[in-house]
Amino acid sequence: MPAGSRAACPRIAAMQAPVVFSHRRFLFILWALMALGFCATSLIGYHVSKQAIRDAIVGQDLPLTSSNIYSEIQKDLIRPVLIAMTMAHDTFVRDWVLQGERDVDEMTRYLREVRQRHGAFSSFFVSDRSQRYYTGEGILKRVSSFEPRDAWYYRVSGMSDDYEINVDPDLANRDLLTIFINYRVFDYDGNYLGATGIGLTVDAVRRLLDQYQERFSRKIYFVNTRGETVEFGNQKGQGADLRTRPGIGALVPDILAAKQGSWQYQAEGDNHILHVNYLPELKWYLFVEQNESVALAGIRQTLYTNLAISLAVTLVVVLLIHFAFRRYQGRIEEMASTDKLTGLLNRHAFTILIDKLISELRREPRPVALLMADVDHFKSINDRHGHLAGDTVLEHVATTLENGLRASDLAVRWGGEEFLLVLKGCEPEEARRIAENLRAAVAGNPVSLPGKSIAVTISVGIASFGPDEPPSQAIDRADAALYKAKHGGRNRVELAG
Ligand code: GH3
Ligand code: MG
Ligand code: MG
Repeated sequence: MPAGSRAACPRIAAMQAPVVFSHRRFLFILWALMALGFCATSLIGYHVSKQAIRDAIVGQDLPLTSSNIYSEIQKDLIRPVLIAMTMAHDTFVRDWVLQGERDVDEMTRYLREVRQRHGAFSSFFVSDRSQRYYTGEGILKRVSSFEPRDAWYYRVSGMSDDYEINVDPDLANRDLLTIFINYRVFDYDGNYLGATGIGLTVDAVRRLLDQYQERFSRKIYFVNTRGETVEFGNQKGQGADLRTRPGIGALVPDILAAKQGSWQYQAEGDNHILHVNYLPELKWYLFVEQNESVALAGIRQTLYTNLAISLAVTLVVVLLIHFAFRRYQGRIEEMASTDKLTGLLNRHAFTILIDKLISELRREPRPVALLMADVDHFKSINDRHGHLAGDTVLEHVATTLENGLRASDLAVRWGGEEFLLVLKGCEPEEARRIAENLRAAVAGNPVSLPGKSIAVTISVGIASFGPDEPPSQAIDRADAALYKAKHGGRNRVELAG
């Protein structure tokens, strides 16, 4: 079919093919739906995991850590308290003091024996009467109420409890948790005689604390009944009064009263989960804390990775769809809007473009001319030269018309051998001049076919078009002008009245 060559190069049609369907909106909605779906799944998963982790921290991890440490402490500390109690109630100690502290060697031997038998760091007795400080090595010194290092003794003398557990903050061997059990000694009538006890390094507890702190990023510390943190070697830097620490401070009275349970507080932008247990033997509270952000770091990383992958996948899918769309949509729209034989716009394309033109004219009024061109005596061309030759004539006329127009004008195959031309920004007189040129171009260019040349002429009717009348009305007027041209002898141009 001769039409093929023109359809392959539809100049006007390609430039003016109307966009019937905008796929950008569709792609945006598709992308938004996919992204929303992915994000919702990722976020729901994250929140479920987060809740599970939080429940595990509150319900299992912290209580388990707490009870492990508690049982280790009991192993290490209950025994020393019992030893100190035995010393305080030992009849030897009491009798020796009541008899005037005469033989220092006896007391030295006794204290050395206790220290060695129980593997203690030190053992001691301080007599209230003589103010002497006895150890396994003999008399260490006399305690004095003016000596800050002896303050502990005067505190023990005045306290109401039987004993205290004291962590020496100024030990030579700082890395080891060393504690002193200070037990009050009374005679048989209940008169105060002094203080005795032992000092111990509780290495196992310290190792356990270190292990939990490092492996699970948990903070573990002890707090006394006054709400002060108990400081020892590996926990330097803790505030003395827990009440002054931001976040947790306000909870302290409640915690001290409740003695055990779980709490949460905010500090430095993170949520902290806290488990507390009271250790009656030590009169200490064991605080085990977990920074929730640290515990959630893993799943948060997974969330970010999921979101990034989702975004990348949706973008790739949308891009692929976009390219496929662009390719097929371009072809479909071209096919839908182009006349196969001539490559000009078809009537379907015209109805879309004329609406666009009307909106343009409403925004920015300018003259527009409609030209209805019709091939003269085309029936007889068909009859004389055959239908195929007739097609070639139509193609030829289409090319001639198209070449005589500007790129912004529209050329439509209106019917069999009728062409509608839309000239934008064109006054009627200018349109008449252009139409005259087109007519002359067709008439001056006979169609040459093998062995023959076919002379062709067209008649043209012109009507001006404005946005306030329906296009069909202007087309009718152009048709009427065309009719006039036909009746006037054909191969001529007529302007509608
Ligand atoms: P007038 O000068 O008054 O316009 O006379 P005309 O013969 O051109 O007008 P008429 O409407 O009688 O004839 C038009 C003919 O065009 C009739 C139809 O068979 C023919 N035709 C319509 N479409 C095509 C086409 O695609 N190819 C060919 N070869 N002929 C067509
Ligand atoms: Mg006709
Ligand atoms: Mg005709």
